[in-house]
Amino acid sequence: MAPTLVRGTAHPGWVFRAVPVRTARHRRPAAAPATCPYRGRVDALADLDRRISGCRACPRLVDWREEVARTKRAAFADWTYWGRPVPGFGPADARMLIVGLAPAAHGGNRTGRMFTGDRSGDVLYRALYDIGLASQPTAVTADDGLELRGVRITSPVRCAPPANKPTPGERDTCRPWLVQELNLLRPTLRSVVVLGAFGWQAALPAFTAAGWTVPRPRPAFGHGTRVPLDGLELFGCFHVSQRNTFTGKLTPEMLRDVLRRAAEAAGLHGLTGEIGTTRPPHDG
Ligand code: SF4
Repeated sequence: MAPTLVRGTAHPGWVFRAVPVRTARHRRPAAAPATCPYRGRVDALADLDRRISGCRACPRLVDWREEVARTKRAAFADWTYWGRPVPGFGPADARMLIVGLAPAAHGGNRTGRMFTGDRSGDVLYRALYDIGLASQPTAVTADDGLELRGVRITSPVRCAPPANKPTPGERDTCRPWLVQELNLLRPTLRSVVVLGAFGWQAALPAFTAAGWTVPRPRPAFGHGTRVPLDGLELFGCFHVSQRNTFTGKLTPEMLRDVLRRAAEAAGLHGLTGEIGTTRPPHDG
């Protein structure tokens, strides 16, 4: 097979690879129409996403994400891994936010989109589809057509960490990205679902830094926990990791129940409008 010249994602510069190559492409968000009331936020979030994707602030995580992208998993040998930080996914006028932990080495780090291409994402997107917040139940590639309705997905750490465990220092280094994203989402954001105790511990300081008043001492994580924060309802949910879903610690019904409660708190219940956009029932 003849080699072709493609842009490597794991390393800057041009490298030779065999064709065809499955590339982790981001679907570029369509330019917001001039009449869109959220146009400024759409552009600001797109700019934030671009800046996140170029971050190299954590040497250990940069080395790991690029090492994984270079060595790959055998099943994905024909992929050009994303191998970079993974930005948030979902509309700029989201009323609901889901906060995970960090991208998976062969999931988000491969496809370039949150919870896309791994078992955790299979569970999460299936549940979002079941309650009407996703256009399809599967998430395979960044350009598979999946769109979210009124909900955005993000994480407090944007690079895949070894053993899925970022250090406290890496968590803190990455926090400003989440704080900036929260500030941009604030005008429409009404509810947040945090997946897992680590995400909870990482997210609460970000909410404080973004200006929300978080109770002291900080509320403990628990599945189904609901904490009001200045016009925002915060929900805890067990993480959608295989360790939880395979063992039955988190069942599809348990996940749907928390997501449904958060959607209702966000005013998304019974919302009419197109997938991929939010038409807030109360906000202008
Ligand atoms: S984890 Fe966050 S701060 Fe660290 S390199 Fe990745 S994007 Fe940058």
